[in-house]
Amino acid sequence: MMKRYQFWFVIGTQHLYGEAIFDTIADRGKKMAETLSEAVHPFAEVHFKTLLKTSEEIDQLFKEANHDDKVAGIITWMHTFSPSKMWIKGLKRLQKPILHLHTQFNEQIPWDSIDMDFMNLNQSAHGDREHGHIHTRMHIPRKVVSGYYKDEKVLDKIRNWTKSAAGVLESRQLNVVRLGDNMRNVAVTEGDKVSAEIAFGWSVNTYGSGDLSKKIQNVTQNELREQLLKYEKRYQMHTDNDASVEYQAKLEIGIRKLLEDNNAKSFTTTFEDLNGLNQLPGLAAQDLMYEGYGFAAEGDWKTAAMLRVMKLMANGEGGGNSFMEDYTYHFENDKGYVLGAHMLEVCPSIAAEKPKIEVHELGIGGKAAPARAVFDAKAGPAVQVSLVDLGGRFRMIVTECEAIKPLKAMPNLPVSRAMWLLKPNFSVATEAWIHAGGAHHTVMSYDLDVEVLRDFAQMLKIEFIHIGADTDVETLKKELKWNDVSYRLNQLGQ
Ligand code: MN
Repeated sequence: MMKRYQFWFVIGTQHLYGEAIFDTIADRGKKMAETLSEAVHPFAEVHFKTLLKTSEEIDQLFKEANHDDKVAGIITWMHTFSPSKMWIKGLKRLQKPILHLHTQFNEQIPWDSIDMDFMNLNQSAHGDREHGHIHTRMHIPRKVVSGYYKDEKVLDKIRNWTKSAAGVLESRQLNVVRLGDNMRNVAVTEGDKVSAEIAFGWSVNTYGSGDLSKKIQNVTQNELREQLLKYEKRYQMHTDNDASVEYQAKLEIGIRKLLEDNNAKSFTTTFEDLNGLNQLPGLAAQDLMYEGYGFAAEGDWKTAAMLRVMKLMANGEGGGNSFMEDYTYHFENDKGYVLGAHMLEVCPSIAAEKPKIEVHELGIGGKAAPARAVFDAKAGPAVQVSLVDLGGRFRMIVTECEAIKPLKAMPNLPVSRAMWLLKPNFSVATEAWIHAGGAHHTVMSYDLDVEVLRDFAQMLKIEFIHIGADTDVETLKKELKWNDVSYRLNQLGQ
């Protein structure tokens, strides 16, 4: 299911220096695009498109980029001076993410041969300043990456940005199916779906559990057999309750069909609306997440959409991204450990070992005992991502953590679990999270750097709060207050 996202590399110049330099610049553009393309392979590819020398050429190129569904973003670089008024018309039109690469073709000054011809050809040092100015003046969200273009740090930043840009592209075509509404009376999982579609592009629509139960009744024996074979390959069977596993298989087939019928790649369920269903989707939701679908429980469509987008942004990394919930804590040796889990639905992509399928009573919801995959999540650096609606704007909160092997076995806990330590420590991170209004539901990702999520949020003009090694609660409270004012002023200005 791996996609390859296309990025266009364009070089700004002008006619002032004579036509003779254009071939040289184009040759360099091709070479540089090859280096960039290698760096982002296999996730994306970078094509050198053209030199842009006039306002008309710039406008035409951006028009083409807007209309080409394969294009996930534009990378610009000014080889010479390229007067920025020429860029206004095109930039006003551009709907794709843009990265301004501030670099130079030559790594070093050729001390012995440098003359005024060299100076006139290699002037990104001031050409890129002119270019950056017009983005700032026009309030265009963009990534600026600065440094020699073969430098690994520069290439890392570009690689991360291609993921963020792919997230924007995918968001614009994401449909989310909600089976039932929000969990009654819960605030943080609620939100304005119209605003979300305007901000992210996510189209979120609700279906009744009856729509799913109809699909389940029509599952064929062949479909069921195929699904059970997949389970046997992916999981270890630790139950003799075949009927429960079979029912989850039917739920999975039914949900997949419902999603396909609606061209949707993400879904939610709620244990409060299971009319016509025998069990809450457990293993079914887990296995669909494992296949790349977005999911969150209790009608939490924001987290469900983020999981799908994050799985695509991480495509090919092979790490893991899951729906997660902060559940309970353990304090020992001056540390606070978080135990994360859900009542059933954690994605097997974060499992440390082959998950076991078990069947246990649920305790709430009053339905039959659902099969679920049970495992410990793996160790490693990770992030927890929460998206909340503050009324008038969305805020994304990302906290860095270190996932660890659970300190001890939990033989009576019948769900998948993850354990982690927060940065910079438990108190600061959780105080900051609570001040920021972060949810108990998150997407846990072992793949994506904070930078990928920050750039994604910035491109969409979503507020972004980072909690990490340098977080200080009082400073963060000021940031939250200032952001509040700034977003309110923006609303007034629109
Ligand atoms: Mn929950």
